[in-house]
Amino acid sequence: MITSLHDTTTLNNGVTMPWLGIGVFKVDNGPELVNAVKFAIKHGYRSVDTAAIYENEEAVGQAIRESGVPREELFVTSKVWNSDLGYTSTITAFETSLKKLGLDYLDLYLIHWPVEGKYKEAWRALETLYQEGKVRAIGVSNFHIHHLEDLMKDANINPMVNQVEYHPRLTQKALQAFCGEHGIQLEAWSPLIQGQLLDSSILQEIADRYHKTIPQIIVRWDLQNGVVTIPKSTKEHRIVENANVFDFELTKEDMQRIDELNRDNRVGPDPDHIDF
Ligand code: NDP
Repeated sequence: MITSLHDTTTLNNGVTMPWLGIGVFKVDNGPELVNAVKFAIKHGYRSVDTAAIYENEEAVGQAIRESGVPREELFVTSKVWNSDLGYTSTITAFETSLKKLGLDYLDLYLIHWPVEGKYKEAWRALETLYQEGKVRAIGVSNFHIHHLEDLMKDANINPMVNQVEYHPRLTQKALQAFCGEHGIQLEAWSPLIQGQLLDSSILQEIADRYHKTIPQIIVRWDLQNGVVTIPKSTKEHRIVENANVFDFELTKEDMQRIDELNRDNRVGPDPDHIDF
């Protein structure tokens, strides 16, 4: 039972990762972001998800420094972008991210997308960074089962996390089962479908019964499914709302009704068909 924002899952290397964090995609590298991350930390969040391609690592770093919470109590994730996939280029990209964040280590570093022919060399770089102690855990993002199988064929270290699009319209059951079997923690991006499920009458009916909001129902559904999640908001009241999910539990029946909203629909690209 997950009971607070400080609760963690234990990754396959023993490192603990908060179940709930804040995402910062599409937020400019400026005061709005600094404030959002500071609000989040003030209200108990301990995990922040950024990426090199978001071009906002400096503001995330500034917020961390100004938060007053010791670095070791926070969990910071960043990701290597597609154009930097390669052994040396990934190491360099990691050092650039660290510098922008103003940190001397990351908690989690991910390969952002499974670019064919490139992700294995990048993975070797992540293994090196991990072995050198520069990052506490390494993982991937947007990997289908076949990408994971291919990666693990040659890997010395299996990924600890796979961060993928995951929400009630894309429940990823097969991928979740595969990750479970291989000790890979699944993490949900765009958990709120970037706002698109907020008018679902089924979710509204469930939310009303629990005296909760639709975002809270979705976040709770993620957690009860054993999926780490990182809803994004820059607004203090929503940052608080999205984390106010520890005082209720969805019944099995309601969990199933939410599962049944699955349509295998994506808001983002299919990792098998990326052209960036
Ligand atoms: P989300 O599903 O988290 O939705 C964010 C949107 O919902 C924003 O427009 C936000 O607006 C709005 N919102 C947030 N909370 C509420 C609320 N309580 N009520 C109403 N509206 C709300 O989308 P993201 O795409 O941002 O995904 C979350 C995070 O996942 C990203 O920020 C990023 O860190 C990560 N990600 C990773 C990807 C990858 O390839 N690995 C791809 C995409 C995302 P507002 O800010 O105005 O409140």
